[in-house]
Amino acid sequence: MSDRITIKKPFGGHLHLRWTRKMLRETILLVLGVYGRGIVIGNLSKPRGLVKTREDAVRYRNEIREAVWEAHTGDRFEPIIPLMLTKRTTPETLEKAVEWGFNFLKYIPGKTSTGSEDDGISLDELLEEMPLRCLKKAAELKMYFLIHLERITKGGKLIPEIDREVAAIPDLIKIIEAVPNLQISVEHVSTAELLKFLETAPKNVTFSLTVHHALETYDKAFHPDGTIKNPFLYCMPVLKRVKDVEAVRRAMFGLNLKLKGRGYSGTDIAPHPEASKRTIPPAAGICISGDVAMPMRWMLFKENGISKEEFERFESVYAPTRYGLSPEEGSCIIKREKWMVPKTVGQGTEEIPVYMGGQELDWRVEETRS
Ligand SMILES: [Zn+2]
Repeated sequence: MSDRITIKKPFGGHLHLRWTRKMLRETILLVLGVYGRGIVIGNLSKPRGLVKTREDAVRYRNEIREAVWEAHTGDRFEPIIPLMLTKRTTPETLEKAVEWGFNFLKYIPGKTSTGSEDDGISLDELLEEMPLRCLKKAAELKMYFLIHLERITKGGKLIPEIDREVAAIPDLIKIIEAVPNLQISVEHVSTAELLKFLETAPKNVTFSLTVHHALETYDKAFHPDGTIKNPFLYCMPVLKRVKDVEAVRRAMFGLNLKLKGRGYSGTDIAPHPEASKRTIPPAAGICISGDVAMPMRWMLFKENGISKEEFERFESVYAPTRYGLSPEEGSCIIKREKWMVPKTVGQGTEEIPVYMGGQELDWRVEETRS
């Protein structure tokens, strides 16, 4: 078996780089040298708030481009910024966004993740008049609708976090029925039940998968009573059970033939400063830098006897193809070489703990420039 593999440059399917300028300077290092471009979600914290208009998207894209330039690593990275669907979004907002080339629309149900309280739309409200008009307009404009699919409450009662994704499957069915031609990507799918549903969903419904949902289980993050054991493994959707991990892997490896080609890599890099991971509840998100995600996923593919070609399709081909983008230029080399993952990126108050920090990995991304 070769000690080095070369694949087309991976596509960063689902990234959070945050905001302030200072934070961006640190988080950009999580993607540089691995992803040539990626979808950077605009659920920015207050006072900045969500990316809601094309002007917001341009501003955030420029700030990321500046951070890339300021990093002086010689790597390129082009951010793709989706508009966030909120109570303020109108069909005109979307038309204007598409005019300027922003053709992704992201939806996070109210109160599900960072920054999403602002003008958030709950799943109960998503098919009300204005959001529905927006979804129909998005379909007409051939926008890609990226959905964080989790139902938080039912009949006024809070749903346990581990059950929230499955509880939202009926909502997904309603969305598909209400706007059948909408191009939907269900983000970070984490359960066997949702994958089972997706097997029979129409072909315009695709999905992304994270590496942590293929590696870690609920019991590593939570005590049996549901309180948090390890805040650094607390993310949304939360980690799931062994059967779910197995289903995620099968979809990832291309072994679930009913899903083959419709699921792609979306790392969901979600950096938070150390202090905000230590609060109760902790900020949700696992910070998996690209140079950790890539070797970890490759090791997982390799250990399970899955080919390099399948790995490459999952990382670099399926997502851009789905989104009508030209293939990436450049490549990524992963070689067998032991290295120690640094515990954090950044400094001082912005110090961000990294997944696998302080642990040794057997494979690493070789420095590439292009
Ligand atoms: Zn996310």
